Amino acid sequence: MSGARHAILALLLALPGLAGPVQAPFPADHRALRKTVSYAEMTAFLKAAAKPGFITVSEEGRSTQGRSLFLVHLNRGGAKARFRVLYYAQQHGDEVAGKDALLTLIRDIAERPTLLPEDVDLYLMPMLNPDGAEAHRRFNGAGEDLNRDHLLLAQPETRALHRVARRVRPHLAVDSHEFGRDGEGYRARGWEAWPVITMDAANHPLIPEYLKTAGLAAVAAAEPLQRKAGHAYRRYLVGGPPPDEEMRPSTPEVDDGRNGLGTLGALSFIIEAGVRHQAADPQADLGERVDGYRILYRHLLGDRPWRDRVRGLAERARREPLPPFIATNVFWANLDGKVTAVKVREAATGRTLEVPTASAMSDLVVKGSVPTPKAYAIDPAAAARFLPVLEAQGLRFETLAAPRRVSLEPVKLLRLEEPYDELYQRYKDRQIVARQPRAEVELPAGTVLVPLDQDLARRAIQVLEPCLLYGLYGYPGFRELAIPGAALPVSRVF
Ligand SMILES: [Zn+2]
Repeated sequence: MSGARHAILALLLALPGLAGPVQAPFPADHRALRKTVSYAEMTAFLKAAAKPGFITVSEEGRSTQGRSLFLVHLNRGGAKARFRVLYYAQQHGDEVAGKDALLTLIRDIAERPTLLPEDVDLYLMPMLNPDGAEAHRRFNGAGEDLNRDHLLLAQPETRALHRVARRVRPHLAVDSHEFGRDGEGYRARGWEAWPVITMDAANHPLIPEYLKTAGLAAVAAAEPLQRKAGHAYRRYLVGGPPPDEEMRPSTPEVDDGRNGLGTLGALSFIIEAGVRHQAADPQADLGERVDGYRILYRHLLGDRPWRDRVRGLAERARREPLPPFIATNVFWANLDGKVTAVKVREAATGRTLEVPTASAMSDLVVKGSVPTPKAYAIDPAAAARFLPVLEAQGLRFETLAAPRRVSLEPVKLLRLEEPYDELYQRYKDRQIVARQPRAEVELPAGTVLVPLDQDLARRAIQVLEPCLLYGLYGYPGFRELAIPGAALPVSRVF
């Protein structure tokens, strides 16, 4: 053998991924998948798929019941990999397809490393709620809904995700879920929801408009890809069946992963695949859902110009000064009463029907805003409640060692409302407040000051702004701090 051939052979042996197929707990063709991968199977698979210097598997934390929260890092470009991506799945233990799709992607990349572009630095958290996965339920081991915990970060699973997100600072982030296609309202009409796979972009008002616009364009651009693969696809909407029930994009609140990570300065998405819960075997079409997922995961990686563009937008969003006003009261509406044709599937025949409705709410309306303060001041008596949240969110703060004179705007709570919202029951605990006159005051020692001239200022606003219509005070532990007729424990500093 010549010297040159020796060198080529040595090079080939040194390249990762050429050792042959990886043992995997799923079929070679993912479209044949009919059973989700368990925590134990995933653990064994990830250990087998790890390759030094290429696929790194680490434990980022433990669930409430002590299971590993795995982080998989794939990188073959070293420092050249500047486009950072974080895909995470199975916050809800019984929503499995995103996790299975991520595992098949790891298998494919392990076997064919060139599938991973050299400029992509890819981070995956395929199973964020292993306790829920083992129990086949939505909630984590403590009985909490992780995708409503991104404001408080009280659970170890969400804390681990946010630690990773702040360390990696992804330019692109994707949260992965499933919804029921055959809910009661649909079945009563002899229908099921049409889409098999859906996606939406983050929509919080504090996310710069150009990031939201680029996100929605990517949602629309996926349509021909899914159509070509034969999967029914549309933008993700919540709500009941048309024409009477309200349908709208998901909440703009930040207690979910999509908006929570989006406000760190990322193009941030949620993917939701549709499950037939009433079918004899709801996983009979798991392979189709996984295929729909894989199309979207690959679509969002895009080509090199797209990745460079998204990286530029995300980095611009991180440098963007805070807006002069903060939207505190927003809602979805259909501004001009336009009629939308919503597709549903007729259960008996499988035919697709188009139902016209004026109840599709696609416009986000800002009803109330307040001037952006310089900082927030937390009363010494409430500091113990807030400090764990500030620390879990990675926010910079200062505990005053001596009194300090500031211009302070207290906010008085008038009442907490608990309207029944049959569409989205989490819209309870509306905070109705009144801003009080600004005054020069001396803050006592022990006051916690959270300045807004910090990297994570948008997170600080989302956690602390007392004028938000839906804030912290609906949560246990904080509700006691909200006394009608008294000032809230967080004031606005100018
Ligand atoms: Zn979910």
